[in-house]
Amino acid sequence: MADTVAVATGNAHKLVEIEEILGRAMPGARFVSWKEFGDFEDPEETGATFAENALIKARASVAACGVVSVADDSGLVVDALDGAPGVFSARYAGVHGDDAANNAKLLKNLAGVPEGARTARFVSVVALVWPDGRELVGEGTCEGVVGFAERGEHGFGYDPLFLPDDTPGKTMAELEPAEKNAISHRFHALSDLVAKLEAAR
Ligand code: IMP
Repeated sequence: MADTVAVATGNAHKLVEIEEILGRAMPGARFVSWKEFGDFEDPEETGATFAENALIKARASVAACGVVSVADDSGLVVDALDGAPGVFSARYAGVHGDDAANNAKLLKNLAGVPEGARTARFVSVVALVWPDGRELVGEGTCEGVVGFAERGEHGFGYDPLFLPDDTPGKTMAELEPAEKNAISHRFHALSDLVAKLEAAR
């Protein structure tokens, strides 16, 4: 295993979560944002699924950096909205990464939807790609409901609106990072990836 793993994200929160969880299975590995290798353009996320987009990002990082690379594609799937925002989670309100606008749009689109019908899940797919062309993909979900108002200061994205079933009464943003990392979709996807990595050894 190479010592340096490029993490194909500009999202510092994701980098920390990936480093904390995947690092346990890759002792000695140094996780570095692919942006530290150069001022690369983000690839267009043209995939129809989380898996396709995760692979697009990890492959782009391998091509640019020349080292084993990991990428996550993730989002929120809301049942009452027929799966939206889904793969469009980061740009739900139009501007990529505008969390405040995305959360406002989600609340607006769920106005009038009662508590019992606000079920949703975070989904994460993590792709690990090597320069020799090997590829592994891990998938994970975190079930919960969308609340009626933002609460909590931790995390990012839809965390202030999402109440995981595993932590009743608390939004994801009210959890300490270690608590989130024990139940999150990214934790489950990375655990799935780690199991596949160990099976492939
Ligand atoms: P990506 O960077 O293209 O994978 O977009 C992921 C988007 O999904 C983020 O911008 C957030 O809006 C949302 N998202 C993914 N994971 C999380 C999470 O752990 N908490 C909150 N929002 C998340």
